Amino acid sequence: MVPNNILNSIDFEEEGNKMYRLAERLYPICRSITGNGVRETLAILKEIIPLELTEVPSGTKVLDWEIPDEWNIKDAWIKDMAGDKIINFRDLNLHVLNYSTPVDQIIDLERLKKHVYTLPEYPQWVPYRTSYHNRQWGFCMSHNQMENLKDDNYHIKIDSEIRPGALTYGEFFIQGKTKEEVLISCHICHPSLCNDNLSGIIIATFIAGFLQTLKTRFSYRFLFIPGTIGSIAWLSRNENKLQNIKYGLVLTLLGDTSPFHYKKSRRGNAEIDKIMEFLLRNESNSQIREFSPYGYDERQFCSPGFNLPVGRFSRKPHGEFPEYHTSADNLDFVKPVSLGESFRLLLKVIMLIENNLKYINLNPKGEPQLGKRGLYRQIGGESRQKDYEMALLWILSFSDGDNSLLDIAIRSGIDFSVISDAAQKLQHSSLLSAC
Ligand code: ZN
Repeated sequence: MVPNNILNSIDFEEEGNKMYRLAERLYPICRSITGNGVRETLAILKEIIPLELTEVPSGTKVLDWEIPDEWNIKDAWIKDMAGDKIINFRDLNLHVLNYSTPVDQIIDLERLKKHVYTLPEYPQWVPYRTSYHNRQWGFCMSHNQMENLKDDNYHIKIDSEIRPGALTYGEFFIQGKTKEEVLISCHICHPSLCNDNLSGIIIATFIAGFLQTLKTRFSYRFLFIPGTIGSIAWLSRNENKLQNIKYGLVLTLLGDTSPFHYKKSRRGNAEIDKIMEFLLRNESNSQIREFSPYGYDERQFCSPGFNLPVGRFSRKPHGEFPEYHTSADNLDFVKPVSLGESFRLLLKVIMLIENNLKYINLNPKGEPQLGKRGLYRQIGGESRQKDYEMALLWILSFSDGDNSLLDIAIRSGIDFSVISDAAQKLQHSSLLSAC
């Protein structure tokens, strides 16, 4: 079991800085739902955790879907007739419609504009647009850049290819004492976007890196998958493992400065829902939302045929901040301190999962005499001392095999780590036995 106090030894500010440096490395890579950008990203993560890579060939049937052809891109630009590049993929990969077909032609302005996407309400930002299923080409640019297109003709080039290949995803499994699993999933399909995509990838990587050094009670499975099609592909290949998943979280949007946000699993009363509600009570302005069948990969994990206990942890939800899916979701939008704080909260979730046992009071007839067993005055600090002594009484009163330590923490209002420490002391004194 992982001790509660292990978090005290972590410098979350420094972890936030390390995570941010990883974001800087991953940010320029052009990712998509398939292709070399995903492989390059996973190769960098492999420097930190021993990811296992799976390649699912194009054309493979996965549940009701099919793995698409693979998309790769080398370069793209728009040149004026003087030969000057006025839009350059190498400056910002959002400039190309993700999954764009190749093109190389001289085109008049009117026709070009039919393939250009902008955000008139934020004229300096470049939108992120995809076309996975309709084959077409396109450029994304700021509205100001489009307004500056004044020539009659332009030379456009997108050096991409779409052909049979594979969909790539990464997986890392940590064997715990039990085969019961905690699933942590994030999407890896967005190109140069920082909060949406990169923050989830980075935090999942750091949690995995942290846990691989410990002996855990639960097994942990980390998935780094392209959104929607990746989770559908993984689910279709791993149905035999799903019954082991006891807790799950989809991680995304964890690097901005907004308060924490948790979206419940479809079940609405899963243990992970209870844990997140409990922990977010103490985080200012945090919000809990009920499940809805829209969002990230929780849509697939919670689809009725699977109905897994998987919720989604983020800060500001997708679509509810103007920078979402634009070039403004960049390295300035994500803060090291926010990454560090999100990491801290998630480690608290894991500590709670690891330590949330049920016990039975072995001396239930009348209160046992705690003083003679040396169970009082063992922890310094006045308020913690009082909480600790109260925790002993709460645990003895409610450890009947039905209530978990989390139930007792919720009922008593005492911090979970105090409850957990007190339970261990009672167990050492042979007053409690774990179920
Ligand atoms: Zn997104």
